[in-house]
Amino acid sequence: MTFGIDDLPVRDELRGKSPYGAPQLDVPVRLNTNENPYPLPEALVERIAERVREAARDLNRYPDRDAVELRTRLAEYLTETSGYAVDMHNVWAANGSNEVIQQLLQAFGGPGRTAIGFEPSYSMHGLIARGTGTGWISGPRHDDFTIDVPAAERAMAEHRPDVVFITTPNNPTGNAVPAETVLALYDAAQSARADQGLASMVVVDEAYIEFSHGVSLLSLLEGRPYLVVSRTMSKAFGAAGLRLGYLAAHPAVVDAVQLVRLPYHLSAVTQATALAALEHTGTLLKYVEQLKTERDRLVAELRAIGYEVTESDANFVQFGRFADSHEVWQKILDRGVLVRDNGVPGRLRVTAGTPAENDAFLDAVRELKKEQEQSG
Ligand SMILES: *Cc1c(COP(=O)(O)O)cnc(C)c1O
Repeated sequence: MTFGIDDLPVRDELRGKSPYGAPQLDVPVRLNTNENPYPLPEALVERIAERVREAARDLNRYPDRDAVELRTRLAEYLTETSGYAVDMHNVWAANGSNEVIQQLLQAFGGPGRTAIGFEPSYSMHGLIARGTGTGWISGPRHDDFTIDVPAAERAMAEHRPDVVFITTPNNPTGNAVPAETVLALYDAAQSARADQGLASMVVVDEAYIEFSHGVSLLSLLEGRPYLVVSRTMSKAFGAAGLRLGYLAAHPAVVDAVQLVRLPYHLSAVTQATALAALEHTGTLLKYVEQLKTERDRLVAELRAIGYEVTESDANFVQFGRFADSHEVWQKILDRGVLVRDNGVPGRLRVTAGTPAENDAFLDAVRELKKEQEQSG
């Protein structure tokens, strides 16, 4: 018997749990983690090298703790793309939106407090809740994966959560959440706690918003100091390796997360790289347009093949149904294409890749469908 994790005095709520782990397998076509398939354009790679070289000259010093230049540029990007004006005081940045979410839960969740999400949704919300000692409540969805608003309102009244997560477009299902639903949930969350004189933080996770047919919910921040919109450079900007996420909210929320962030959490190299990327948003958003076209093609072709497909506003598509989705996942993998089994019964998720990658995926599932029909 060897010494293992169970022999360590780890916190009770972590015992027997598994870490977040999308398989990182070495296969020709990887369409499993919603990354952008296009490498950064060469001009941007050069600009990053330049800005990082400049930053390197000051690496003997700690970085700008408050990332003022970066937050200013992020605020400009949000204002330009959404038409709703925010400034540096509304924006906070961290190492991926996962760290943004962790800081929000450190500030507004924690032991004795609870957070709710509507599942299936982004599994990290629940995992980060656990890591911060926040109780997790799984809220309801309809069979078509839209949020069941009346049931959600009842859950809110019953549990009075401190933090509410709404992912739009949702991952792994792909569907966007209408503004009216977000507003109904925001109001339900506030009224559930009003008698105690408490408020509830509502976090709208817009990791995929650039891929949406619709618009950002940023303008809902107007007059709603308990609303937070979180964003990332990992998906639309094709910079998952950079680790840069950010939020927009009332300036008081930015003050609150500063109480829990680690000092100098955003390295000078990260800030320099993100600033370079923000000089090239025009080019990056052109790739997003190509991916949206490919996403729509995946939806149409999967339906033509005979699969059931969830409406998608993201850079991925959920499809099914399968009696044994894990078996189908393996058969697609055997054909050199890695998709994602998120544990949603009967469904799999495929990320929109390059046209050639998507063709390889569609060929694989077409073949499977034929095989199935012949044996059935
Ligand atoms: C991918 C994803 C993120 C991104 O996290 P980063 O830490 O910014 O890479 C956040 N939320 C959702 C719903 C996601 O799918």
